[in-house]
Parts: sequence; C-alpha cells; structure tokens
Amino acid sequence: MKNLLELIPEIYVPVTLPLSKKELHVRAYKHGDTKHVLRAHEESKDRKKDKGKLLLSTLEQLVSKCIKEPIYVHDLNIVDFTYLMIYINSISKESSTELVFSCDECKKKQTHVFKLEECVVENEDKAESSRNVTLTLGSNVIDIAMREYTFGMLVENSVIFSDGKKTGNEMTEFMASFIEGVEFNGEYNDKWTMQEKCEFLDALPVTHIQPLSDHFDNIPKLHWKKEYECSCGHSVVAEIKEILDFFSIY
Ligand SMILES: [Zn+2]
Repeated sequence: MKNLLELIPEIYVPVTLPLSKKELHVRAYKHGDTKHVLRAHEESKDRKKDKGKLLLSTLEQLVSKCIKEPIYVHDLNIVDFTYLMIYINSISKESSTELVFSCDECKKKQTHVFKLEECVVENEDKAESSRNVTLTLGSNVIDIAMREYTFGMLVENSVIFSDGKKTGNEMTEFMASFIEGVEFNGEYNDKWTMQEKCEFLDALPVTHIQPLSDHFDNIPKLHWKKEYECSCGHSVVAEIKEILDFFSIY
C-alpha cells in the first residue's frame, strides 16, 4: 500500500445533458468538496450585495470538480447546468428530495418526492431559433441579437436579484443584459453600455415590448409538475418552473 488515497477509486457515471445532448461523466461530491460549500455559506452571511454571486461561484466550482471532461460550466445553458447540478446532487446523497405543497383551497399540505427524471425541457425546439428579436418601430426595423441564457448569465445577474424580489428596474436590467448587439440599416453594433441598453428598453413604446417578452417566455426551461387531488376534492398543481426555485431546493 503506497498511500491511503489509492484505496479510493474515482467512480464516474455518464449523464446526458437534456438540451445540448452532450454526454459527460460525473462523480459524487467528496467530503472535502462539501467543506468549501459550508465555508462559502458562512462567508456569505456577512455579505449583502454579492452574496448570491459568491454562492453561485462556489456552486460552479463544486459542479466543475465533479465532471471528468474539461468543460467550462459557465457557458452551459442554464437548463443543462441546472440538470447537471441536480444530477450530481442526487448521486451524492442517499435520501430523496421531498417537497411540500399546499392546496390552494383548504391549505392542507402534501409531501411529494422530487425526481429529476420527471422534469421536462420546455421550448426545447426554440433553443436556437428564438435568439433574435425583431422590433418594427414605424419604418425602422431593428434586429436585436440576444444572448443564450447560460449559467454565466445567472451569475452575472445575481447582483440584480440579490434581495430575492424583482423590481421594475431590475427586470429592465435583466432584459438588457441579454442584448448582445443591435442591427439597423445593415449596421451592427455590440458595444452598447448597460445604461444605454436600459434606456433603450425604457424608451420603447409599451406596445412594442411584447416581442422581447415573448423571447423570454420562449427560452428553454426545466419544468417539474405533479397534479394531484387533495382530500378536499380540489385539484392541485405542484410545480417548479422558475430557475431560482430549482436552485433553492438543493
Ligand atoms: Zn384541499
């Protein structure tokens, strides 16, 4: 026996990412990995502004360590990252994840077991085609190139959502961060500042914000849903569809 570490085999299992269909090999968390997470949670308590960013960066490092292939998880689509994160979590623990939902009618609580394989990817077919938004303002036709919603975009926007609720300005900033560049009259510019993009969005007639809202409605999403009948007879839909909600259950 040369050293103790040789006694521990590295066991990797295959996982296929639901959106890109990329196949990766991942391992469960090690005891040492979880210590870093605990430390980050301790540190984040004293922070206000970049608390979310610190936690997401720690999560990024944690997920990266568990992947055999050399990939940059920052650039993974948010759907693939979320799936990967939950998958690694599920092979790292014995128990299943239980979620509690209340009936809208009688408020009675019911526990459900969350299973990753029950999640579906919505708008999977629109992943590529919906990356551009065209706005027609009078005789001006403006083409906006939109960025993909990657894990990196969530990290970038974590400061915006630091206090958990989205105000009107934060929603504008969130939308603006997705604008990659703008094409008008054959000229393309991707050098706009965040402030310029926000001012542009705020100056749009309300009737013309719709194509942008549609863009966000159509980006691929991970969705978990269970419909059940409560003992009071009311039909209840238990679901998780917001990306931050998936992050908070783990
Ligand atoms: Zn009920």
